[in-house]
Amino acid sequence: MITGESVWREIPGISLQTFIEEIKRYEEESGRRTIVLPVAKQFHHELQPYSALGLAMLAKECQYGAVCEGRNLNNPFNISCGWRPPNIHTWCQYSSPVESAKAWKRAIESYDAVTLSAMLRTYAPCSENDCATYLKQTVDRINRYLASEETMDSPVIYNLANRSHQERFGLQQWQANEVLSHYFPNRCDGASGICGEPQFIVLHIQDGNTTGSLTHWTTVDASSTVMIQKDGSILRIIPENHGPWTNGDVINPTAQSAALRNKGGNPNIWCLTIEAEGKPWDQMPQSQFQSIVWQCRQWMKTYNIPLKNILPHSSINGRDRQNCPGPYYSRVIGELTSGENQNGTPSSTFPTRLELPVWNGNDIMLAGARMYACRRNAVLARDYAPRKYADEMSAAVGPPIKKGTQIAVAYLRRGADRQWWYCSESAGFVPASATDVALSVVGG
Ligand SMILES: [Zn+2]
Repeated sequence: MITGESVWREIPGISLQTFIEEIKRYEEESGRRTIVLPVAKQFHHELQPYSALGLAMLAKECQYGAVCEGRNLNNPFNISCGWRPPNIHTWCQYSSPVESAKAWKRAIESYDAVTLSAMLRTYAPCSENDCATYLKQTVDRINRYLASEETMDSPVIYNLANRSHQERFGLQQWQANEVLSHYFPNRCDGASGICGEPQFIVLHIQDGNTTGSLTHWTTVDASSTVMIQKDGSILRIIPENHGPWTNGDVINPTAQSAALRNKGGNPNIWCLTIEAEGKPWDQMPQSQFQSIVWQCRQWMKTYNIPLKNILPHSSINGRDRQNCPGPYYSRVIGELTSGENQNGTPSSTFPTRLELPVWNGNDIMLAGARMYACRRNAVLARDYAPRKYADEMSAAVGPPIKKGTQIAVAYLRRGADRQWWYCSESAGFVPASATDVALSVVGG
């Protein structure tokens, strides 16, 4: 549940589907047309990862873009462009509502406020607004959006062990039985004597359609945990307590799969696998993409699998499987990264080295972790050894910095110890609690 004390940057985003449904619902109930619905897709995109917060504030400011002073200026967030003499308030004007979405995001990201309540008081000062009502309505709306996201239908699920589902995918019973026998029983690899458990998710692309792949698998040593079709349906193949035969040989692997390979035994015994229908460069249908994300989330929750353990097949075989699974891998990771903030849990993935891009005021992703742009100066309140990662346990990058030293901060992120950390441009990570500005930023 979101409350006024929630960290506003961690309020999860919502799917485009929920976003559009909410605006449509408003249009139907009120009989008014919004200026946002015609550009909903791009609008939603520009708000991410704050689409739930943005939609709730849009509802408050301008009834989703249907009525408000800024409506005719493509300014449904009622973004203020200041006062002109003699005390005439002016609203900003934009070339399209999408530009207002960008401006809204820029505005709130520039705030120091940490809690939702403090952020809203900055956006809509109590001198001009009923702050308590603004907060309550926004919180209620966000919670409603998030609740409707959760009840979103799970994908249609088939199971290859089911005779009617075999027929649906064009398989004879003997063919299905052959594929269903392709696994490491109880995730044990006889050759090494090692038994595994589901700790990794490996994404693949079939390079064909599901019926064709299944038919092919009757003739080769191959299978997978699930196959996910272009229509968004999921076909379960090998039960999750067994190791699927999906990842093939380890050839020219990349560092990304090192943790998996270090487990020992055949990598398959540690993996759950997804074979997506289609070819690597196909435009992936949204329903298929959403089902893949859904399946990853389920497994991450069930088996406590961190984001960094979701691997592309190419990380295991960099020679023959360079294009497996192809571009959808990074899209899935991107989607799951925005979802990662949903639980308020810190990312378990930290930058493995500090290679900051040129600071341009935007948040950045570094090794799967979001770092919030936060250019400011901070003064150290005590001596502190700067760390390599945002984590109290990580190695120091240099000698302790003396109390009273001013450091230039580039980014802010939440560390493994659930504390906020500054990424200093001159040194490594410094806990926000060790600096004097920390108190005003983190709220103690
Ligand atoms: Zn593959």
